[in-house]
Amino acid sequence: MEQTLVIIKPSAIHRGLIGDIITRFQRKGLIITGMKMMQLDETILREHYAHLVDRPFFPSLLESMMATPVIVMCIEGKDAVEVVRLMTGATNGRKALPGTIRGDFSMSGQENIIHASDSVENGQIELARFFKPEEIFNYRPSNIRFFYAPD
Ligand code: UDP
Repeated sequence: MEQTLVIIKPSAIHRGLIGDIITRFQRKGLIITGMKMMQLDETILREHYAHLVDRPFFPSLLESMMATPVIVMCIEGKDAVEVVRLMTGATNGRKALPGTIRGDFSMSGQENIIHASDSVENGQIELARFFKPEEIFNYRPSNIRFFYAPD
């Protein structure tokens, strides 16, 4: 089982999409092992988006990510990083395929509904950035074997 970080961004909070997003992950068979609401600040965003701080759109991204509290989730499952990235879709909502979260809910390159870790290694780094160890739980839903029958 892998773990990955998902952030439900302010664009989704503003638009009342929290439930739709959580439902998609649960129906897929992914396990939510950590979840909380938090207000992001410039310090954590400069760290999280360190690869983008020099881009011209960075001030706008900062403002967008601080516009409301966000929901951070630890999502667990087999190949969870790849599965969640596939469910997320391309960065720009207009280019993301229908059926993906961004493809179904976004028309924007910036206001693209969720963040999802892009590698197993970054997933671990990002989870440690947003969660204390005791905020991630070790449990399995009782129906788990129906999702993960031998493949
Ligand atoms: N972003 C943007 N304009 C761009 C590229 C990215 O506003 O041209 C924002 C967008 O919200 C994106 C985030 O910056 O989700 C992080 O960008 P990254 O390239 O890491 O893409 P992601 O992994 O989120 O698909």
